[in-house]
Amino acid sequence: MNPIDKLTELFEHFPGIGPRQARRFVQYLLVSSAADRTELADLIKRVGTETTQCKKCFRWFVGRSGLCAICADSHRDATTLFIVEKDADLENVERSGFSGLYFVLGGTIPLASEEPGKYIRLRELLKRVGENNLKEIILGLSATTEGDHTRQILNEKLKDTGLKISSLGRGLSTGSELEYADPDTIASALSSRQ
Ligand SMILES: [Zn+2]
Repeated sequence: MNPIDKLTELFEHFPGIGPRQARRFVQYLLVSSAADRTELADLIKRVGTETTQCKKCFRWFVGRSGLCAICADSHRDATTLFIVEKDADLENVERSGFSGLYFVLGGTIPLASEEPGKYIRLRELLKRVGENNLKEIILGLSATTEGDHTRQILNEKLKDTGLKISSLGRGLSTGSELEYADPDTIASALSSRQ
């Protein structure tokens, strides 16, 4: 396959990108400078070689050590664990001033699913909540059908931990995602969580 078609096809695999947008990306690259194209290719390579997935919260970060800067920070409130679907949600919650720790689920559970562990890091989460110091779990899932479904399953799976489990859903409008909520809205949803 020629590089134009091949690259278009690869861009189509990106989340939220259709064939028309994929073609526009390739068109843009064709008129970019050789230096810009080389820089982009180089950065894509480095994203693979210079990043690590945190062993504790599972977010991706630039570095070599096992823990990200948030998990390694001993000044953070280790009694509260904020559960999010993806890295972008975590970054947005961080802007709201939340000072506890996080866990990235890696997705949501589809409605008809028989095996929740196939779609989210369920085993890793259950191991994580068994660690000491933790008092409260905040479920920061999308106010969508799948987000609600995931929240129900997690409530069920976590109820025997004896920890307080609260939800952020009420403060965010229906269908909204944490990734797009503004930090002030997240901060007020956090303070009114139940
Ligand atoms: Zn981490």
